[in-house]
Amino acid sequence: THFGFETVSEDDKAKRVYKVFENVAQKYDIMNDAMSLGIHRLWKDMLLHAMHPQPGAQLLDVAGGTGDIAFRFLDYVRTQQEQKRRREVRSMQLQSWQEISNSYPTIDEGGHQESRAVVCDINKEMLKVGKEKADGKGISAGLSWVVGDAEELPFDDDQFDIYTIAFGIRNVTRIDQALQEALRVLKPGGRFMCLEFSKVTNPVLARIYDAYSFQLIPVLGEVIAGDWKSYQYLVESIRKFPDQEEFKYMIEDAGFYCVKYFNLTGGVVALHSGFKL
Ligand code: SAM
Repeated sequence: THFGFETVSEDDKAKRVYKVFENVAQKYDIMNDAMSLGIHRLWKDMLLHAMHPQPGAQLLDVAGGTGDIAFRFLDYVRTQQEQKRRREVRSMQLQSWQEISNSYPTIDEGGHQESRAVVCDINKEMLKVGKEKADGKGISAGLSWVVGDAEELPFDDDQFDIYTIAFGIRNVTRIDQALQEALRVLKPGGRFMCLEFSKVTNPVLARIYDAYSFQLIPVLGEVIAGDWKSYQYLVESIRKFPDQEEFKYMIEDAGFYCVKYFNLTGGVVALHSGFKL
């Protein structure tokens, strides 16, 4: 298999990927903003809009790192829940919001399952930074952090409504195995969603992007995180990852249905989605 452009054994790749994220964990969020000029936030927001999760949904975010997708998910379902509650209250046409608010059961009190997000990542350091971030934001309800390998998930079958993996799948050694695991842990009807760097479709944008990523990202890595090599790996791993169509076939091969993808920012990133039937 490959580590960047080097050919290495599967075991070696896993170890080196671990080391990369162990090294970058503390600076991961700052570097994400610096390297993508903040655009990774928009890509992650778009994932949530495409997902449109409903209150009660159970999310597994694999390679979840410092928790960005899980935080957005919990925020989104809670906003949905509050909006639903307000709509229902308004439709009752009662006068005192306070009176209703106090007497009307919340969705959870009404017997629905509470939404939950599980962040699963192979790297303890990334999860540690994520947990600290969650504490800083005062988020703890409905959120858990689990050390685990995408290729061998520590969960029972048919547990989750949504499986996400954002900028994680290209780091996994055996992608087909990770896709099988995604299928296994999803409930029937559950959705697989993947955000990953992909192939830029516009040739002019492709040249600018190539020059930017090959030359500037390792420099930013050195200046901000003091780590040229890790960031060089990240850039090279993007080049090695299958393009949009090829990855779509891999997802179909794993047994997902209705597989489709959307290009974001001209194909810099692709959002793939498929369902377990
Ligand atoms: N999803 C987060 C985000 O979008 O900000 C983090 C993405 S980060 C680029 C990639 C993550 O994949 C790292 O946290 C790394 O530890 C994790 N990872 C790499 N190989 C993995 C594996 N086999 N199983 C689970 N996580 C893995």
